[in-house]
Amino acid sequence: MLLRDATLVDAAGVRVGDVRIDGDRIAGTGSLSARGDENVVDLAGKAVLPGLVDAHVHFSLSGERSVEEVVGMSDAELALVEARNARRTLAAGVTGVRTMGAAGVGVHVRDRIAAGDIQGPRTVANCRSITATGGHGHHLGREITGPRDARRAVREQAKRGAEFVKFMVTGGVTTPGSDPNALALTEGEVEALVDEAARRGLHTATHAHGAAGVKTAVAAGVDTVEHGTLLDDEALDLLVREDVTLVPTLSAPHHIVRNLEAATAEDRTKTEAVYERHLESFRRAVEAGVRIAGGTDAGTPFNMHGGNAAEVRFMADNGMTPLAAITAMTETAADTVGLADQGTLEPGTDADLLVVDGDPTENLTLLNDPAVVLKGGEAVAGGDPATKRTVADARAAD
Ligand SMILES: [Zn+2]
Repeated sequence: MLLRDATLVDAAGVRVGDVRIDGDRIAGTGSLSARGDENVVDLAGKAVLPGLVDAHVHFSLSGERSVEEVVGMSDAELALVEARNARRTLAAGVTGVRTMGAAGVGVHVRDRIAAGDIQGPRTVANCRSITATGGHGHHLGREITGPRDARRAVREQAKRGAEFVKFMVTGGVTTPGSDPNALALTEGEVEALVDEAARRGLHTATHAHGAAGVKTAVAAGVDTVEHGTLLDDEALDLLVREDVTLVPTLSAPHHIVRNLEAATAEDRTKTEAVYERHLESFRRAVEAGVRIAGGTDAGTPFNMHGGNAAEVRFMADNGMTPLAAITAMTETAADTVGLADQGTLEPGTDADLLVVDGDPTENLTLLNDPAVVLKGGEAVAGGDPATKRTVADARAAD
């Protein structure tokens, strides 16, 4: 199948060209001529870009005002909730995610998506996030005390199929009684977590609001810093020097700030206290040249699965060019989470593509409602039935 005369948008830039899809892969990009009986879809005026990759989602959460509402769910119920959220995410044009696990269900959802049993994006999963005993996210996480227990927790996750290890180096917003600015784990615990994960070939992600937590995790060798809410000069320098990727999750506080009346009293107080600082930290990180991967924290209060593309706009509203923001949530996010064949229009990679009704670098809201979502060359969703049908028909006729 040949997608012709589209505006192509990826890290390489914006240009008009064609994309050839052969099976589940991109076979060519550029100025291509149709082969004898190849089916051609004219996409003049529309854009083709890689499917979005969200480096930070919570399939176990569905935007409830309080995480406590999820705590009582059985694993079976959680699995069904995760499957539904995975389907919504793919339908919105997110073809790859890294999902932060709860209660160990995420790895099974990942495997069932990969097997084709349920619909969802290509998924990188952990089991449970690791936290200090009583720390942020303890309800659904693996609580640890001490470096020996930290190593044991990492080995447990690896045994159950985790592809990365997430730990909470600071407190968090949505856990009552937890201070986002405070260091929650000891240096010894963080070093043990990162070292043990590296021995098992797993990358590490840390939830970190306060600068002390960021510095402790980066010094220990963490791969990604999630949120980075209260960065100072020293933390910014360290992120650049150690080439650590920041996943800013600007969507998370945005949705709490926009729903203050409905938020819990504690979420309201904590978010109002740090929201402006979070945006400022992000802007300074962009200026300093920190590597940034797009991630939404989807599932946190009022932050609904399927609204992921808004993160691109939030990043562009705070110092990134539209193309850089798209790149952060395609190629950079894919590289960061380990989805090697995602996030670009390069030949040989997965044909996971979006068709949108115009140039998204001129109007990022076009990403909210793609005309077609292709996963592995198949049209799996789209807001424009006509375009979706045309692409699906061409594919079927090939
Ligand atoms: Zn999160």
